[in-house]
Amino acid sequence: MSCKKVERFAPSPTGPLHLGHAFSALTAARHADRFLLRMEDIDTARCRPEWEAAILDDLRWLGLTWQQPVLRQSERLHLYRDAVGRLTEAGLTYRCTCTRADIKAALSAPQEGAPMHGPDGLIYPGTCRNAEHVATDAAIRLNMAAAIAAIGDVSRIGFTELDFEPGRHALDAEALLRNVGDIVLARRDIGTSYHIAVVIDDAAQGVTHVTRGRDLFAATPLHRLLQVLLDLPEPLYRHHRLIRDENGKRLAKRDDARALATLRAEGWSREDVLHAIGFQAG
Ligand code: GLU
Ligand code: ZN
Repeated sequence: MSCKKVERFAPSPTGPLHLGHAFSALTAARHADRFLLRMEDIDTARCRPEWEAAILDDLRWLGLTWQQPVLRQSERLHLYRDAVGRLTEAGLTYRCTCTRADIKAALSAPQEGAPMHGPDGLIYPGTCRNAEHVATDAAIRLNMAAAIAAIGDVSRIGFTELDFEPGRHALDAEALLRNVGDIVLARRDIGTSYHIAVVIDDAAQGVTHVTRGRDLFAATPLHRLLQVLLDLPEPLYRHHRLIRDENGKRLAKRDDARALATLRAEGWSREDVLHAIGFQAG
């Protein structure tokens, strides 16, 4: 058995890198014996080759090197489709034709109570769960209750967190139903989802340590559940702090957040970037 740490940085080439991305990439690379890069470019309507080129350029400028080849999710859609197909064969999915407006309307029904938010926004109210849609242009959702029943005692599953709330976090059936619910595994437009692609690719790349922002901590129980259902290995997790501006607002969410490329053009050095994100060199 090898105890080499395999880490990855997995940007979506939908825009420029910001200081928060720099922190994520540098944190992963610092801990890694083998550092990998993955382009999360499943959303073909939003991803652009120019952004990918700009991301590679910024990462090189930060002094990072990574093992080739760079994995591109857009070349692996068939693998994600197969994985969703296996879950469907196991009876753990259903087709859903709801629009966002349908979901909002269903959730505003009096008996529903306060709508809950999960990793992808509003928790799906389950409208299509027993609808037997034949439509081919439907989304495919995980039937969370069926998935939990298939596993049995989900509290035997958990993940080990190394940074944010360090320790072992056991899965909890109630929390999965309430905070994740019947999540979309295959979007209607692209036939896959972040959640399916990330678990398939972390396994395919042999990632031992998943380093990413705390904003994704809430998605990790779902990722562990999918890993168990798809018979994939369990990585360790490191959800790092988010880089905020002087007013405490998350940089990634700020429309005017200056891109690394802009800072570079303004004359920032690599050391200036490290200082701005509180990253101790070495
Ligand atoms: N592609 C995701 C992002 O840009 C990263 C997902 C992950 O690291 O698991 O935020
Ligand atoms: Zn539906």
